[in-house]
Amino acid sequence: MAANKKLLVLAGDGIGPEVVGQVRRVIDWLDKRRHVSFDVSEGLCGGAALDAHGTPLKDETLAEALAADAVLFGSVGGPKWDNLPFEKKPERGLLRLRKEMDLFANLRPAMVFEALADASSLKPGLVKGLNIMIVREGTGGIYFGSPRGIETLPDGSRRGINTQVYTTAEIQRVARVAFELAGKRAKRVCSVEKANVMESGQLWREEVQALRDKSFAHIELSHMYADNCAMQLVRQPMQFDVIVTCNLFGDILSDCAAMLTGSLGMLPSASLGPLDAKTGRRHALYEPVHGSAPDIAGQGKANPLAELLSFAMLLRYSFDMGEDADLIENAVQNVLAAGVRTGDILGPGMQPVSTSAMGDAILKQLDRLAA
Ligand code: NAD
Repeated sequence: MAANKKLLVLAGDGIGPEVVGQVRRVIDWLDKRRHVSFDVSEGLCGGAALDAHGTPLKDETLAEALAADAVLFGSVGGPKWDNLPFEKKPERGLLRLRKEMDLFANLRPAMVFEALADASSLKPGLVKGLNIMIVREGTGGIYFGSPRGIETLPDGSRRGINTQVYTTAEIQRVARVAFELAGKRAKRVCSVEKANVMESGQLWREEVQALRDKSFAHIELSHMYADNCAMQLVRQPMQFDVIVTCNLFGDILSDCAAMLTGSLGMLPSASLGPLDAKTGRRHALYEPVHGSAPDIAGQGKANPLAELLSFAMLLRYSFDMGEDADLIENAVQNVLAAGVRTGDILGPGMQPVSTSAMGDAILKQLDRLAA
C-alpha cells in the first residue's frame, strides 16, 4: 500500500478545473475503495494565479511543486489574458515549472483504444491496439542552443540562426528514461536522429548505443533517421514500442503520432526530471496535451479522459502503482466500448454525455472492475 504520497494539483484555467474535478473524484474513489491515501494539496497557476496574486506562478507554489512527489496539471491560458506582455502570460507559469523542475524528458504516449480506432486518420486495421511511447528531450537542443538570433548582413539582407547542441550527459539521461520505460513494456527502443547529415545526430546515435551496451543489454535498440520515422509512423506505426529523440524531432513526431489516436481530448503526457540519488524520486508533472479550450469552458462539454489518463501515468511512473493505473485505463476502455462519449469523440448512435456524466460512468466502471 502506497500511503501519503505528496500530490500537488494545479488545475489552471478554462476547462482545466472541470477535467481535474473528475480526476479528484477518482482520487477519492481510490482512497475509499483501494485504501490508497495521498496528501493532496491544490495551488493556482496561469490566469487563475495572475488574477489572485498578479503572477502566473507564485514562488510558494513553485516550492510546493519541487517538494511534491508529483504534480497533476490541468491547462492554462485564455482570451482574458491574451494581450498581456509575454512575461505575464499564464503560459509563463507552466514554462517556469518546467524549467525549475528540470523536466528534461517529455513522455507522449500514442494509444488507440479499440472503440476509437475509427477516429484515427489511418485505417483502423493499421492502428488497432496501437501503443507507442515517444520520449522527447525537452530542455536542450535547437530550441535552447546558442548562438541564436536574427542578424543583418552587410548587404542589408538578414540571417536567422539556431543551433542544435547536445552533450553526452543530456543524451544519456533521456535515453536512460527511454530504456527504463521500455523495460516495463515490450523492451524495444528506436532512437531517432539525422546522423547522416548532422554531427549532433551522429553523437546522439553513438551515445545512445554506448549506454545501451553498457547498462541495458536486455533492451533491443534500433536507430532511424527522423524523416524515415515520420514516414514509418503513418505507414506501419505498430512496429514501434518506445521512440527516443531530441527536442525538435520529438515536437514534430509526437504531434504526428497523436493524430493516429484521433482526438485531442484523449491524449495524456508526462514530463520527468532528473533522478534524485538521495530520495530515489524524480520531479514529475503530468498533464493532458490539450489546452484550456476557452470555446467550451464552463459548459460541461470537456472530455476529462486525457486528464484522467495523465493521472494513470502519474500512478504508474511516479507512484509505481501499475495495478491502479491498469484499472483506470480499463475503465476508460470499457466506457468507450459502451458508446459513452463526450462531444469531441461522439459517433453516430452513441450516448452523448457531459464532463461530469463521463466521470459518473468511469466511477461506475471502477466499481465494477474492483468488485
Ligand atoms: P486547445 O487544446 O485548448 O483547444 C483546441 C480545440 O480542441 C478546441 O476546439 C477545444 O474545444 C478542443 N478541445 C481541447 N481539449 C478538449 C477536451 N478535453 N474535450 C473536448 N474538446 C477539447 O488549444 P487552443 O484553442 O489552441 O488554445 C486555447 C488556450 O489554451 C490558449 O490560451 C493556449 O495558449 C492554451 N494552451 C495551453 C496549454 C497548456 O496549458 N499546456 C496547451 C495548449 C494551449
